[in-house]
Amino acid sequence: MESVTLSPAPPSSFHRLDVGVKPSDVSGKTLLIPEMAPFGSHLIAACFRAMGTDAVVMETYKGVNLGREFTSGKECFPCQVTLGDILHHLRKEKERLGPAFSPEQYVYFLPEADGPCRFGMYNKLQRLILDRFEEFKEVPIVYLSTEDAYSTGSIMPPERASAFRRLSYVAIIIADVLDRTVWRVRPYEWRPGMTDEFMKKALEAMVSMIETVGADLNFKKMYRMLEDIVATAASFIDPHQPRRPRIGIVGEIYLRSHPDSNQNIVRQLERFGAEVVDASIGEWINFITFVQARKLQRQWKLAQKIRDHKAMRQISRQWLANRIEILYQSRRQNQVYRCALKHLDIEADHTIRSIERRLDRNRLYSFDIGTEAALSIGGALEYVHHGFDGIVNVFPFTCMPSTICTAVLKPLLHKMKVPYIDAPYDGGIQPNREVALRTFAYQARQHLASRKTGQTLRH
Ligand code: SF4
Repeated sequence: MESVTLSPAPPSSFHRLDVGVKPSDVSGKTLLIPEMAPFGSHLIAACFRAMGTDAVVMETYKGVNLGREFTSGKECFPCQVTLGDILHHLRKEKERLGPAFSPEQYVYFLPEADGPCRFGMYNKLQRLILDRFEEFKEVPIVYLSTEDAYSTGSIMPPERASAFRRLSYVAIIIADVLDRTVWRVRPYEWRPGMTDEFMKKALEAMVSMIETVGADLNFKKMYRMLEDIVATAASFIDPHQPRRPRIGIVGEIYLRSHPDSNQNIVRQLERFGAEVVDASIGEWINFITFVQARKLQRQWKLAQKIRDHKAMRQISRQWLANRIEILYQSRRQNQVYRCALKHLDIEADHTIRSIERRLDRNRLYSFDIGTEAALSIGGALEYVHHGFDGIVNVFPFTCMPSTICTAVLKPLLHKMKVPYIDAPYDGGIQPNREVALRTFAYQARQHLASRKTGQTLRH
């Protein structure tokens, strides 16, 4: 591979964090999207293309060694993986295009989160690293942030931003349903490999459908196609195979959704005799909108206390917009799931309010503390409530919210006699992981058997 020039770290780097990392209009550029959940990433890229932005999902995990080379090892694993993806992609583009390579043509899309986590710093760190390559300095990084609930107004013209927001939400939920269809069907398929073969083609068809009708927000056509996909996939189930124990995955969103980073934990568990459901991406988006509502309520109370009527009026307007968004999301999510549930009993997604109730009932954790720990703890309890036989917490090694989650869930689920396992990943191969997962799947089978006979499982 052709080499690139590495320049010394620039003396004043902070200025670059303002100009080189910002939510800016991506029209006319090639948007580079790192892959996370495969269905979701490709459908989001299709949404951008539907709105006229050339978007590409980068080949993933091929550059993981590059990601490691330019980080210290203290960063969260997803930061290393995504950094590797962008460096690998840009290097390949440079090699492919030669002198015609123009960094200004690209925009690297790396969303961020506010709050106590390191995720908000990934794009800043990656800016500093990209700046060390003469050839890649001019590749801007754009982001959407949880701070304004992923407002899209800053990355495309206003006339397209609102449609894009609505379209991308539906696409994310469709991707969740496609995932859940695979997880429900694959463990029971007549012929090994038939579900994956079919779903690969189904994804391509859905991508092309979104590109064609997405700009018009023609959801009916997308729903019809989704129904056909789920109905066909449902016919792959061999009804003679007994139902397996169901395992619920919670944890850090990138690791649990990115098969290369979690060493394909879903398939591994399926190989050991389980049926798996991973927490959805839609859950995170709904959570962000929900948290925004709580933030506005707090701000309003504060403004009321000091009798700031102007601020109260402004917050009320924002609150109303947030309410509309919550209702929109709930309506669309129900519509998409209904399409699938007509043909296949996929696991319906739990609502954010139900997660909150589950946390609060036992005073376990509060949404006010924030981070994904709230979703993971509450989500695990929702799985248990719905009769799952085991919980896996998948996370990057040293992940802060997931460690909190472990501390709360481990003793709690032990008391409830529900099998639980932590699955931390940092890219290395843990020799005992397979045995641990195999044993865990065995415990889950025992749990299912004891539930069927009405006995309590002993660990
Ligand atoms: S959630 Fe975990 S992996 Fe993600 S930034 Fe925070 S600590 Fe790192």
